Amino acid sequence: MLNDSPGTCLRSAELRQRAQLRTPGGVHSNVRLSGAQDFIQRAKGAWLYSVDGRDFVDYLLGQGPNFLGHAPEAVVNAVFEACRNGVIFGGQHELEVQASELVCRTVGWAEMVRFGVSGTEAVQAALRLARAATGRTKVLRFEGHYHGWLDNVLTSPRDGHWGTASAGQLESHLDDFVVVPWNDPVQVAETLEQHRIAAVIMEPLMINAGVIEPKPGYLEEVRRLCTEFGAVLIFDEVISGFRLGLGGAAERYGVTPDLATYGKALAGGFPVSALVGRSELMSRFGTGEVNHSGTFNSSVMATAAVTAALTSLLEDPPYERIAKHSRSLIVGLRDLGVEFGLPLRVQGVPAAFHVSFGDADVSDYRSLQQLDLARYERLAKSLVEHGIWVTGRGVWYVSASHGGDELDAALTRFEAALRDGA
Ligand code: PLP
Repeated sequence: MLNDSPGTCLRSAELRQRAQLRTPGGVHSNVRLSGAQDFIQRAKGAWLYSVDGRDFVDYLLGQGPNFLGHAPEAVVNAVFEACRNGVIFGGQHELEVQASELVCRTVGWAEMVRFGVSGTEAVQAALRLARAATGRTKVLRFEGHYHGWLDNVLTSPRDGHWGTASAGQLESHLDDFVVVPWNDPVQVAETLEQHRIAAVIMEPLMINAGVIEPKPGYLEEVRRLCTEFGAVLIFDEVISGFRLGLGGAAERYGVTPDLATYGKALAGGFPVSALVGRSELMSRFGTGEVNHSGTFNSSVMATAAVTAALTSLLEDPPYERIAKHSRSLIVGLRDLGVEFGLPLRVQGVPAAFHVSFGDADVSDYRSLQQLDLARYERLAKSLVEHGIWVTGRGVWYVSASHGGDELDAALTRFEAALRDGA
């Protein structure tokens, strides 16, 4: 493993300059504006290799999709093989039937599926379907939960309320959403009593903000309330799906939504999303009553990737391996915190956990703000310089490819970053 000292990233610097001339900010997703500056040449397993000859042990996994590790052979080969016979037909094909059957079987409770390209789209389809089914407008959502970058769901906290998060986005785009703190069933009950709510949408494990687990009984109570008030319960499992277990968060916490969205870990790194649900709801797409479209939906690439990725997960479930890696990693990180006298804090689940500084009791977005998140952001920059690929948001993902070598590298590099004063 070659790991040049930071500051010798000449090729990256040159590419960055060129990128900035032709691409706003030099990146194609604003999420990456604050990310690492190194350009990646290739990736395999749990490792990224930069154009400057540096290597990184990867705990970002492309923001989550590389759950099987980078370039998983079974998936890449299946996609190449399938695409030799055509890429997109504007008609139906057998692979999409196989992939649909496999998604429903793997999720467990789902009866029907529609594929899309991004998680953002799957969420929009879910919201539209819920409104159509209930004849209601308003949606209940939660502080700190992320549901994509479109106008009606992108939001950030400002002056004591959750408002727009981008210039060009209108406050009126958010009019039909009620935002309340998560993990508090009373707030859900009150909102459902006060408004005619079409849908309640949430990350059932709040990964995007702090990887915070639902309190015992919370999801059950939200499920009960949705049924009582006739609201559609949508689990946004774009990150948690297939990552927490084959059945995602629904399986882990034993609570079944009416609709769920998936993406990221669904297809071994390929861009595929899915909306799943009970036939009674989903069949409204099939009658044409509710529109859900997309040129690239259920392409050969997408459906071959889904089938290969889910087959890998079913045949060789990586969840115990991941848990073992994570347990050792988390113990190692905490030990380093103690050794360096730092209030280092790790919380979450094996396949996704959050690293920060502080000792607050964290159960929702507000309590998360009591942690020293800025300090972790500074540490993250140093971690990248020392060869650990993470972002400043504090969320670490572990893949099926992380093993002993990665554990040693992560802990050695983390220690080096702390020794260097991070
Ligand atoms: N929902 C959740 C919970 C997410 O974490 C994300 C992306 O991170 C999305 C939806 C949007 O997915 P995409 O970035 O594929 O559009």
